[in-house]
Amino acid sequence: MAQESRVGEVAQKAHDESFKLMSGHSIPCVGLGTWKSGSVVTDSVFTAITKEGYRHVDTAAQYGIQEEVGKGLQAAMQSGIERKDLFITSKLWCEDLSAERVRPALQNTLQELRLDYLDLYLIHWPFRLKEGAHRPPEAGEVLDFDMEGVWREMEKLVKDGLVRDIGISNFTIKKLNKLLKFAQTIPAVCQMEMHPGWRNDKMLQACKKNSIHVTAYSPLGSSSDGRDLMHDAAVNKVASKLNKSPGQVLIKWALQRGTSVIPKSTHAERIHENIQVIGWEIPEGDFKVLSSISDQRRVLDGEDLFVNKEHGPFRCVADIWDNED
Ligand code: NDP
Repeated sequence: MAQESRVGEVAQKAHDESFKLMSGHSIPCVGLGTWKSGSVVTDSVFTAITKEGYRHVDTAAQYGIQEEVGKGLQAAMQSGIERKDLFITSKLWCEDLSAERVRPALQNTLQELRLDYLDLYLIHWPFRLKEGAHRPPEAGEVLDFDMEGVWREMEKLVKDGLVRDIGISNFTIKKLNKLLKFAQTIPAVCQMEMHPGWRNDKMLQACKKNSIHVTAYSPLGSSSDGRDLMHDAAVNKVASKLNKSPGQVLIKWALQRGTSVIPKSTHAERIHENIQVIGWEIPEGDFKVLSSISDQRRVLDGEDLFVNKEHGPFRCVADIWDNED
C-alpha cells in the first residue's frame, strides 16, 4: 500500500511538472527517449508510464521501433492511463521531406504507434534525402528541400486534428529565420542536442526570443560512442555534493535552463532514477560551473547522414550547421 501511494505521488508530481507551449498545450518536463532502444522499448515505455509517472515519450519513424513503442503505449492505456494525459512526440524523416509525403508519413507513424493523433510532430533534420540514401550519402542523394511546402502540410495536420503541435529539430538560426518568414503556425518546439558539453546557447536564445520551447536531446551525452559526461569531473563534484547521481544532475541542469529533456534508458532502475529530479535544485554557483565547461562540441553533428566531401551539397559539418558553431 505504502509502495503504491509512493508511486502514485511520484507520478502525480512528474505529471504536474510541465512547460507551457505557445499553443497553450503543456509538455511534460521529462520524457523517455527511445533512440537505439530496440524491441525492449515496449517494456521500457510501459514501466516508465505506469510505474514511474512519465507522461512524455519521444520517438521517431527513423528509429524503426514505433510498433514496439505503440505496444507499450497501448498496454499503459489498457492499465488505466488516459490518452489525454500522455504527450507523444514523433518525427518526420528526411526521406519524407516533400509536401506530398508528409501526410502519408504521419499516417504511417500513427498506425505504427496505434494512436489517432500525436501531441508533437517534428521535422527530424532539415535535409531531404533520396529514398534508400547511403550513409554517408552518395552523389545526388541529398535533394532540394522545399521547407515552405513541407511546413504548409504540417500546418494542415494541426488543422485536421491529427497533430496537436508541430516543431523542428536540428535547425540553425538561419533556417529558423527562413521558416519564420512564411510560417502561419510558429513551431511550438525546437528539439536540439544540449548538455553541459554542448550548450548550444545561441540556438536556445533564438528560440526563447521567438517563444519557441526547447527540448534538450542527448542530455546525458548520448550512448557509448557519445560524450562521457557521467565521468566528467565537474558533473561528479556537483553530484556528490548534492547526493544525486551524475545522470540526475545532467537532467536537472537541462530543466533549470528552461528546457524539457528526454533521457533514454531501457533499464528500469535508470528510468526510475532519471525522473527523480523534482523537488530539489542545483544551487546557482554549481549551475554556473556546469554551464562553463570549456570543451564544447556536438555528438550528433550530422556528418554520417548528410556530408559528401566530394560531391556535396554539404561538404563538411560546418555546412550542415550554416557555419554558426
Ligand atoms: P542520452 O543522452 O539520453 O543517453 C542515453 C545513454 O545513457 C544510454 O546509453 C543509456 O543506457 C545511458 N543512461 C541512461 N540513463 C542513465 C543513467 N541514469 N546513468 C547512466 N547511464 C544512463 O542519449 P540519446 O542520444 O538517446 O538522447 C535521448 C533521446 O533524445 C533519444 O533517445 C531520442 O529520443 C532523442 N534524440 C533526438 C534526436 C534528434 O535528432 N531530434 C537525436 C538524438 C536523440 P541504457 O539505455 O543502457 O540505460
